[in-house]
Amino acid sequence: DRIISANLMMEDQAVELSLRPRFLAEYIGQTQAKENLKIYIEAAKQRKEALDHVLLYGPPGLGKTTLSNIIANELGVNIRTTSGPAIERPGDLAALLTNLQEGDVLFIDEIHRLHRTVEEVLYPAMEDFALDIIIGKGPSARSVRLDLPPFTLIGATTRAGLLSAPLRDRFGVVSRLEYYTNDELSFIVSRASDILEVPIIGEAAAEIGMRSRGTPRIANRLLKRVRDFAQVKGDGVITLEMARMALQMIQVDELGLDEVDHKMLRSIVTNFRGGPVGLDTIAATIGEESQTIEDVYEPYLLQIGFLQRTPRGRAVTPLAYRHLGMEPPENRT
Ligand code: ADP
Repeated sequence: DRIISANLMMEDQAVELSLRPRFLAEYIGQTQAKENLKIYIEAAKQRKEALDHVLLYGPPGLGKTTLSNIIANELGVNIRTTSGPAIERPGDLAALLTNLQEGDVLFIDEIHRLHRTVEEVLYPAMEDFALDIIIGKGPSARSVRLDLPPFTLIGATTRAGLLSAPLRDRFGVVSRLEYYTNDELSFIVSRASDILEVPIIGEAAAEIGMRSRGTPRIANRLLKRVRDFAQVKGDGVITLEMARMALQMIQVDELGLDEVDHKMLRSIVTNFRGGPVGLDTIAATIGEESQTIEDVYEPYLLQIGFLQRTPRGRAVTPLAYRHLGMEPPENRT
């Protein structure tokens, strides 16, 4: 697996639990989403009502799961966690829903991957806190409505556009999580170092942050790897030199790009004159799945202005040419 992958890996799990902020005040960045949520949470608590359903969307590793847990903590309620593909049948969802207590949070990760039949159970549950179940078979079958306790559904997805319109419309609060700034990431690295009790120089934290693709999950993972180098090759302290050396060894460049990013950009430049070229063609050329490129690798390259999305496919920008040490073609600016 790529070290700069924003997806959760086995090795992240233990460390993520200890590094995960538990309250809004510890949750760095995402000011817009945080400020709004703070108000909605306070209002719901004052009215002693369940918080409106919340949809969180944004690239992997930006803190959607973390924020959901924080919302439940701040509300002082329980949270139940599941994911779209894990709910196989409508009955599975019904079981989850009937086990909720008043005001609880049900967190569904990858909510865009819910089966259609399961999704249909969610509509009345979200709208009326009710469950429609069919009793009996054939001509004598009848529908019975069961009341559910008021609850808050928090859905997370990488792209809001992947959700069906009827589902999307049932969320009262829709928040987009943004890539983190270098300063925020530097702060996240320093905080994580404190928790892991790794001595680190401020400049080194900034260096790791800068190479983390705007993503806290990657920042935490890079920190762990650099810590290993500092321990084995140095005296345990993460200095700027140590951080740079380690990051070079694991082939993560100054902007957080790795070999696969380089390969993809170079391939568009050399095989397709910089593009535009279709996503499927790129995928076939570098041996990755189109969906993976679109959801995981491409968003950051678009964000830093290295790739451009055009109606005819993806094109490499002059900025990316220069980063690769190549001369951009003259007809582009
Ligand atoms: P997602 O659900 O969006 O994939 P997670 O919520 O699992 O992302 O976040 C990944 C890790 O990044 C968390 O375990 C946490 O350690 C760290 N993290 C995420 N957001 C923040 C934040 N705002 N401040 C500090 N650490 C964060």
